Amino acid sequence: MALFKEKQKQVARSIEPGAGEAQWYDWEWQLKHSVRDNITFEKLSGIHFEEEEKAVIEKTIKKFPLCITPYYLSLLDSANYRDDPLFKQAFPSPPELVIDSADMMDPLQEDLDCPAPGLTHRYPDRVLFLVSNACALYCRHCTRKRKVGAENYIPSRSLVAKGIEYIEKTPQIRDVLLSGGDPLLLPDDYLDWLLTRLRRIPHLEIIRIGTRIPVALPFRITDNLVNILKKYHPLWINTHFNHPREMTPEAAEALGKLADGGFPLGNQSVLLAGINDCPHIMRKLVHLLVQHRVRPYYLYQCDLSEGLSHFRTPVSKGIEILEHLIGHTSGFTVPTFVVDNPGGGGKIPLIPNYLLSWSPGKVVLRNYLGGVSVYKEPGSYRPPKCGDNCNQCRLETGGANADEYPREGIAHLLSGSDNTLAARPTKIVPLEKIKN
Ligand code: SF4
Repeated sequence: MALFKEKQKQVARSIEPGAGEAQWYDWEWQLKHSVRDNITFEKLSGIHFEEEEKAVIEKTIKKFPLCITPYYLSLLDSANYRDDPLFKQAFPSPPELVIDSADMMDPLQEDLDCPAPGLTHRYPDRVLFLVSNACALYCRHCTRKRKVGAENYIPSRSLVAKGIEYIEKTPQIRDVLLSGGDPLLLPDDYLDWLLTRLRRIPHLEIIRIGTRIPVALPFRITDNLVNILKKYHPLWINTHFNHPREMTPEAAEALGKLADGGFPLGNQSVLLAGINDCPHIMRKLVHLLVQHRVRPYYLYQCDLSEGLSHFRTPVSKGIEILEHLIGHTSGFTVPTFVVDNPGGGGKIPLIPNYLLSWSPGKVVLRNYLGGVSVYKEPGSYRPPKCGDNCNQCRLETGGANADEYPREGIAHLLSGSDNTLAARPTKIVPLEKIKN
């Protein structure tokens, strides 16, 4: 168990005079004593605001609630809080009330393609399933600010069952991403019930969980929780570290338990102005992640959700960070930089341009140091001509079926078995639906 530090002892005792190590490492005690108002925050953190600041903070909390675990609060740098990347992620700031002309309530349109409560079915083979509105930490940069914290509730089993039933009767769904809120804040027996129901669905190949628990409340990763989750492999877990200082001994211990439980671990960071918009910080973060068996998966451009404009960087900042990572460190430590397409068009990966030019037979490429070279393409190459008929394909070794995943969009245009010349989007989303 990680060392019970002096600052943590002080916070624990300020909450409850007799509280010590036993209470501190108890995740339910942590949740019970989550900080939800400014007065308690000032008392526990030792940070004090000017009177006029307090009024705006109150106003911000009214619109976008505050919730910080005593654990995460103990990580804040109270002496230098205005520049502290952890404070900025956790504590409300007045710019959240500024509505930028680009802001939207639901920029990813998750509420549109919604065939059952909390369930977004946008891509044929996978669904996003929001199974909790509660989080251990209300991140100030949350893309679902419109929902998270508005009502701190766990949906009833009968409500969640409607989403499960939809998945049951939709055979093309092979992947479900449980998110929220934070699914790992569901009680153990509820999680066990939910995963049992999902695992019974024959066509559901994988289950994924998106969680910030290892960052905000690592003590929730108990042996009992890991034993429950282990029953439902293959189960992938994606977490959300944004800054190297979040990789504490406690977080490392939680990640170790999950990795030992056999869950492939990934991390999704959000690129945030004044928090991690620096190549050196991101390099340090990805190195720490892989040391703890977590693969950096995505680096997100900050979404256009309302109240986030002060966190947004230019897209070019993400490209600059990738220039510092690709080639300069191990390939598997480099996350994919994505812009989640406003209006619900999915994730768009962006990388620096390495393809300088092209002629028949020759590709001119540049490497991470700016060196330019020519790759000669094979003159003898003939693509397989199959007409997407997998049964007769000379490569086919079993199981592939082109009918299962018909080619769409650009992939359709590239098909050798079709003469289509142009693709047009089939769904136009009216602006007012995106804005409200
Ligand atoms: S834990 Fe995730 S869902 Fe919850 S507030 Fe943070 S970013 Fe949003």
